[in-house]
Amino acid sequence: MVTDVVQPLIVAIDGPSGSGKSSTARGVAERLDLAYLDTGAMYRAAAWLVADRGLTGADEITAAIDAADLRISLDPTAFAIAIDGTDVTEAIREPQISATVSKVATIQAVRDILIDRQRALIAGAEQGIVAEGRDITTVVAPDARVRVLLVADPAARIARRAAELGEKVDQAQVTDQVIRRDADDSTVAAFTEAAPGVTVVDSTHLTLVEVIDRICALAQEEPDLRPGAQDT
Ligand code: C5P
Repeated sequence: MVTDVVQPLIVAIDGPSGSGKSSTARGVAERLDLAYLDTGAMYRAAAWLVADRGLTGADEITAAIDAADLRISLDPTAFAIAIDGTDVTEAIREPQISATVSKVATIQAVRDILIDRQRALIAGAEQGIVAEGRDITTVVAPDARVRVLLVADPAARIARRAAELGEKVDQAQVTDQVIRRDADDSTVAAFTEAAPGVTVVDSTHLTLVEVIDRICALAQEEPDLRPGAQDT
């Protein structure tokens, strides 16, 4: 007798800065009733810890992150993240963190630690999960049933990031946050081109709802194998 192994739905979304990954991933998770993992927030929390402790060497940075108690909410409607007991939900969005996070994220030993933790969080999400970042479709969850690379023209990405940041930063900082950060990040994660089997969604001329619709349509092409999902 052949027994089907029931696997929760995993939706993996990668993309450059300003492509709309986070809003899209949250929207898909809410619509499909899945958990949501913002892996960028984990790298940002790691960068916050490094800045808070004034760490500089790759070895001391890696050791501190390895020892850190990192807690992240998987609820798409109530995001929160804490590291070693400090709630850093707001602090990780500060321009200083955006400007320095790539330095921490390009240390391979740091990536190995956070990738292990991300895989554990994904495996523990029994109701299924949408995970977003730079290397989810290729490294963290290459076996995800739905894999999407979300792209947008640089001008659209810069405009979106500027709108998100409001008055907090000037044009040069916005460009740094998008173009320079992507260049640095792409030295360790392949998110500028889709890997085989990954669907490219170009959000340049789409609304957020249209992007969410497309990804949900891809997910719905896949059978829902969650327990009870087929019972009506
Ligand atoms: O997505 P977000 O802009 O919050 O990501 C912050 C940073 O975290 C990125 O610039 C990148 O350095 C790092 N990151 C990564 N791999 C991921 C997610 C984010 O290296 N999967």
